[in-house]
Amino acid sequence: MLNTLKNRFEQGYRTSRYPKEKIELPSPYRGLPKVSSNAPADVVKLCADECPQNAINPGNKMIDIGKCVFCGTCERLSEGRFVSFSRNFELAVSMKEHLITDGDLPSLSKHSKRNFKALFGRSLQLRQVSAAGCNACEADLNVLATPFFDLARFGINFVASPRHADGIVVTGPISRNMKTALLKTYEAVPSPKVVIAAGSCSITGGPFAGSHEVSPGLDSLIPVDLFIPGCPPHPLTYLHALLTYFK
Ligand code: SF4
Ligand code: SF4
Repeated sequence: MLNTLKNRFEQGYRTSRYPKEKIELPSPYRGLPKVSSNAPADVVKLCADECPQNAINPGNKMIDIGKCVFCGTCERLSEGRFVSFSRNFELAVSMKEHLITDGDLPSLSKHSKRNFKALFGRSLQLRQVSAAGCNACEADLNVLATPFFDLARFGINFVASPRHADGIVVTGPISRNMKTALLKTYEAVPSPKVVIAAGSCSITGGPFAGSHEVSPGLDSLIPVDLFIPGCPPHPLTYLHALLTYFK
């Protein structure tokens, strides 16, 4: 017992001070892409042709970060002349069309619909639905419960039953086998309820897009309030989205 207390004392306070203090992520992290509209057309075309997600539109030189898996191919091929990734982890939007971007996203707090801050600002209980995810999106959601992020200090918790929840967080490309379970979970959440699509899979099908076994995006099944892109989204991307949208 004394050793435990001694260790605890030596470790000190481990919880992040975010959002009161900014966090700088290390350089390998790929956050919000910055797109140069002056990039040569042949470079843009090369990036669009090689993008595994078909996320680049060479016509308007925009990237769909709902499709993007942040592989870095376009940055490497263009040597930063067309796309360069910033370390900005604030990627969430409330309208799907805002995910098609040149690197300038609208402020999330200005687009909060249905007065969610008044409804859930003090307490938000979420049910997570893994609809055929690869477990990376789910793992990075789990990380939010660790002492560093300590999501519960903001009044946000994950609960076991949809009947105890204010909304759902959906990860994965929503396979045919998971569709009924997802819709039943959604129905079981009492209204007013919130729906969050987390990760490129749940937003657009991600790497599985185009397969008849998955959905083309959660919004094709139920109305979505918040889109959190990434493959997987960084825990700070989740945290920023939840705090900005609901608090
Ligand atoms: S980083 Fe995104 S936009 Fe660029 S090549 Fe990869 S998937 Fe495509
Ligand atoms: S978005 Fe990426 S990390 Fe998340 S479930 Fe799909 S493949 Fe896995």
